[in-house]
Amino acid sequence: MIMICDFCIFGRATSMFVIPMGFSLSVVDDLAQLTELDGGRWPSCDDCEPLVEQREEAELTARVMSVFRESGLLSSFSPEELAAIESHLDGKFTALFDADPIKQPI
Ligand SMILES: [Zn+2]
Repeated sequence: MIMICDFCIFGRATSMFVIPMGFSLSVVDDLAQLTELDGGRWPSCDDCEPLVEQREEAELTARVMSVFRESGLLSSFSPEELAAIESHLDGKFTALFDADPIKQPI
């Protein structure tokens, strides 16, 4: 079974981050008033994995934005919208890291 990285949504997932049971995540920001994060399991590629493992949300956000930009995925967004997307990602990763996800093999 092929799994895609939940962080950059491009790389092949090679590890899995699992949120401890009973932890519920939510993010409030300008992009989505309330985004309930999918609890449970977050597959990760080799490039995102060390940033998740080390809880580097700023670097992880920068990496994901870079992958999105290179793919052309963000070409139609204004600078203000890009800032909102970046802020959303950062908030999502911060909430995820607060849950202290544990790395497991896939
Ligand atoms: Zn990735």
